[in-house]
Amino acid sequence: MKIDQQFKCRICGSQNYSLILKTETPLAADVSDEITLNQKRFPLDVVVCDNCGHVQLKETLDASFYGEYLYTPSYASGFIDYIELFVNRLNDKIQLKDRKVIEVGSSNGYLLDKLQKSGWTVLGVEPSKTLSKISRDKGVPTYDGFFSKDTVGEIKKLIGQPNVLIFRHVMEHLDNLEDIVKAIEEIIGDGLVLIEVPYLKRIIEEKQFYAFFHEHLSYYSVSAFKNLLQKGNLYIHKIYENNLEGGSILISVNNDNRSYPDDNLNKYLEDEKKTLTKQNIINFANLIENSIASIKNIVKVAKERKEKIAAWGAGQRGCTLISMCGFNSSDISYVIDVNKNYWNKYVPGTDIKIVPPESYRSELVNKILIFATGYADSIIKENSSFVENGGEFIKII
Ligand SMILES: [Zn+2]
Repeated sequence: MKIDQQFKCRICGSQNYSLILKTETPLAADVSDEITLNQKRFPLDVVVCDNCGHVQLKETLDASFYGEYLYTPSYASGFIDYIELFVNRLNDKIQLKDRKVIEVGSSNGYLLDKLQKSGWTVLGVEPSKTLSKISRDKGVPTYDGFFSKDTVGEIKKLIGQPNVLIFRHVMEHLDNLEDIVKAIEEIIGDGLVLIEVPYLKRIIEEKQFYAFFHEHLSYYSVSAFKNLLQKGNLYIHKIYENNLEGGSILISVNNDNRSYPDDNLNKYLEDEKKTLTKQNIINFANLIENSIASIKNIVKVAKERKEKIAAWGAGQRGCTLISMCGFNSSDISYVIDVNKNYWNKYVPGTDIKIVPPESYRSELVNKILIFATGYADSIIKENSSFVENGGEFIKII
């Protein structure tokens, strides 16, 4: 695995930055079949660009990593409900005759399968061969590879010009952002682009220090997106917020620079001038140590009472949090995750096993810490028997 540590802002190209967080963690999605306490750790330096204010990693993870990627979105009901709402809204907005969609980073084809069933012509673009095969096996046509200026022509030949282009939780993984934006400009015509990413404001306001990991190179504000999209003559029209992935924004973009009466772009830009100042970001960084200490304290107090603790969520946030807190199996008995690709594997760099949800019924614990913060409410609702039998769920934010 190669990591490039030369810094050049991914949006404005400046080489000047201020450091927010400096640590070392194993790759968060690198769950392994065996216990690997000495798993290689890689530097993780979070910086803010001095010129444009874009928050990003100094490092760049070698993109070949995604050829082996196994991470899929959570199937907690919060996610499933959200996708249903997403499909319904899109169906209300786009007429049947115009339903042609490309999803970049289409993972196992979950969303495109739903869209195809409601009359869309679909194409997925997915670099992980394991995931693109799962997607094709479901009947979702999927291009094996990355979306870029080099491949956009080939992709267009497979489906023609799309009316809708979707990037759900993809843009934060990409390094060459200008190339991506130019590729979008080339294919989208007067169609609609929907981009969803974790929202920097939620990370800062909720002190989500564990939201930083090697796979996420960028942590977007709305104003950073505006600057980026302008490079491809693309404009934001509307911003929707949701609670997925610790709090995300879905932005609706096209090539029309007129503003519309229901635009909320300016409201976001004005708000960010006050909330996402460099000083606020640095203040957040200064509190990270306290945040880690308070989570470690929950575990310490429980251990003193001879209580057993499990965690819920072995996604990148959960694994990063465990790594930053230095937990092992004497602290956290196991981590529950709904992604069956992870079951019976270990959290990177630890001896903590990842197990299916029903495990808490057989291997009893007193408390479950919810690291999958975006799904906390649906996890608690679906597993009410844990609380009825005397267990306690603990939300960390
Ligand atoms: Zn910059």
